[in-house]
Amino acid sequence: MKKILVLEDEENIRSFVVINLRRAGYETIEAETGEDALAALKADPEIKVALLDIMLPGIDGFEVCRRMRAMDNRLGVIMLTARAQEMDKVTGLMTGADDYVTKPFSPAELTARVDALFRRAGGDTEAPAADEISAPPFLLNTRNRTLEKNGQRVKLTQVEYSIVKLFMENPGKALSREEILDTVWGKDYFGELKIVDVNIRRLRIKIEDNAQKPVYINTVWGYGYKWGG
Ligand code: CA
Repeated sequence: MKKILVLEDEENIRSFVVINLRRAGYETIEAETGEDALAALKADPEIKVALLDIMLPGIDGFEVCRRMRAMDNRLGVIMLTARAQEMDKVTGLMTGADDYVTKPFSPAELTARVDALFRRAGGDTEAPAADEISAPPFLLNTRNRTLEKNGQRVKLTQVEYSIVKLFMENPGKALSREEILDTVWGKDYFGELKIVDVNIRRLRIKIEDNAQKPVYINTVWGYGYKWGG
């Protein structure tokens, strides 16, 4: 189980963080004060990553970090800072945080940082969940057959979903239109290759920021398409 402790005294920020982490497949434990967070970590050794707000009533996030480090050196720690300077100022008295995220942050940014830290913290020693493919800002859930972009559901047809899945399973690889057709529509489908282009065009409108200048689904001229750079 991928457990994360979220320490944040402002309730709206805390629930924003928690909702997005849960969507990304994490189990969250919430704390409003540093003291609560330390008690929660002590009570649950399965917590692998902690997100710590800095400005808190009672002991601040840096002190919480210092004490957590003393308890568990493998714990991954991300500070949630209101301004980048907050982090700079304290680099000298570095408390052992692994990373920091400056508010306001996007769900995709937060999830990407947490994912990276989780891998480093060894939280992925269990077999990776086979039912999700994460490629920020996208998260594909292969069990529910759903796609999210920045935490927002993108409504896809089954064919569009299958195309996205094929892309996400083959990042950076040029896929020929024949290959896409065979995989998505099946080898018995005798339709035209153009159906691939039509679906890609519609997909781009749904998932690209600007369908005229796609950055996720790129055209490989005279051949097909590829996902990402
Ligand atoms: Ca705060």
